[in-house]
Amino acid sequence: MLTAAKRDIRKLKPEELEQFFVSKGDKAFRAKQVYEWLWKKSAKDFDQMTNLSVSTREMLKENFMILPIRVDNMQRSSDGTIKNAVALHDGLVVESVLIPAEKRITACVSSQVGCSLACTFCATARLKRMRNLSADEIYDQVAAIREQSEQYFNRPLTNIVFMGMGEPLLNYSNVISAIEKITSPKGLGMAMKRITVSTAGIAKMIMKMADDQVKFNLAVSLHSAIDKKRTELMPINETNTLEELGEALRYWYSKTKSKVTYEYVVWKDINDKEEDVQALLKFCKMIPCKVNLIEYNQIGDEQFQQASVSIINRYMDVLEQHGITTRVRRSRGKDIDAACGQLANKF
Ligand code: SAH
Repeated sequence: MLTAAKRDIRKLKPEELEQFFVSKGDKAFRAKQVYEWLWKKSAKDFDQMTNLSVSTREMLKENFMILPIRVDNMQRSSDGTIKNAVALHDGLVVESVLIPAEKRITACVSSQVGCSLACTFCATARLKRMRNLSADEIYDQVAAIREQSEQYFNRPLTNIVFMGMGEPLLNYSNVISAIEKITSPKGLGMAMKRITVSTAGIAKMIMKMADDQVKFNLAVSLHSAIDKKRTELMPINETNTLEELGEALRYWYSKTKSKVTYEYVVWKDINDKEEDVQALLKFCKMIPCKVNLIEYNQIGDEQFQQASVSIINRYMDVLEQHGITTRVRRSRGKDIDAACGQLANKF
């Protein structure tokens, strides 16, 4: 039962939970037990906490609530990819994806409900932004996929990408808190280097991340290194121009010495000319980087068509000739609309 007086227990810091138990005349170490249930074991209600007495559990229920996410609908692709519809406590829904590969299992998670950025080629943009996800809601998506990974593949989750719905850098503090929990030994104990945050390129926030000395990987959705075209594809480029983005990325590299990955889709008649290849090459020479050429996923808009193989090869050749590692990323889970840019709550 939810009453206004009950607090979300996962908002409490370990010390606050300790204080709570002490104030109730109980031992401080109870907090450690509860904390483990909440984070390491992802308990969804207090009755799961079987090493606590019934009266302690009742006392917790009287004072607190747990607001877990609920995987409402799970779809499996013929290639093994799993897409989850994740119901939040207020009825809104986001999506998360498990992507199995030979050597890794990746969780692709959402950071916002919908998105405010209006990239013209992306299905999530059509949903508009409804709200930011809390740190717990982000954490829970990873914890749920980690369980699915063990359950369906008998293998551990190895990587996490913030490439689901939303722009992670516009929900920065919650994304950072979630990552802290995900990497903490008290949480999921995953390695920072296995986490990638992908951004449409919020220059100011890239500088902040550099100042914060974050240790996860950064990916930038570039799609064009020509301002006019990029602005047409991604309106955010109007206020975060390639020059500002470049400046932020140089700052990022000077502070973190960490390579950036550029994500880039090649579309027919949009960015499939030699000038596009050369502009990307020039942008790539700025700091050490890698390029992922992403296959385009149709979202029911004829304006965007995947470019021919020959131009994709041309991009590959030119970039590789200049020592820039370039990979073509094939889409996964297309048959269930789980691929990049297809997340739009279509179940
Ligand atoms: N807002 C963040 C993360 C979400 S999008 C960002 O912009 O990076 C994850 C990736 O999918 C981005 O590189 C995005 O540009 C790309 N994408 C969006 N729609 C796509 C589509 N229909 N086909 C292929 N990639 C798409």
